[in-house]
Amino acid sequence: MADLRSLYQEVIVDHTKSPRNFGVLEDTSHHAEGYNPLCGDKIALFLRINDEDIIEDIRFIGDGCSISTASASLMTETLKGKSLSEAAILFQDFHHMLTLEGGHEAERLGKLAVLAGVAEFPARVKCATLAWHTFDAAIHNKLAPVSTE
Ligand code: ZN
Repeated sequence: MADLRSLYQEVIVDHTKSPRNFGVLEDTSHHAEGYNPLCGDKIALFLRINDEDIIEDIRFIGDGCSISTASASLMTETLKGKSLSEAAILFQDFHHMLTLEGGHEAERLGKLAVLAGVAEFPARVKCATLAWHTFDAAIHNKLAPVSTE
């Protein structure tokens, strides 16, 4: 278990130091901004979703703590190429993992499982879910920035 933990930690550090899909996306079909006032994390998310509801491209920019940055990076990596219905299931699984509600499929979560340890720190759960709430706002075309509070 200790080995698994340090492996998870390594992945988080890697995604914090070199976030994937970081930058502004040209030719955006959906866009939203999110803010977590508890920690000060900010994110802007850009998506290109095609007519078949497939997420063709996804990028983000942001300024936040390591958990929020790593989570956004892992989310973009995971969601690229997925359908919106697959994304909705992943969001639910991820949320269940962090709130310890159970019922999620660890296998389906894949690399997102590295953030499971955040569940032990309730104050940080919002850092980890900020990107996902912002994604949810983007696909529902909510224009006001979402806040986790
Ligand atoms: Zn944070």
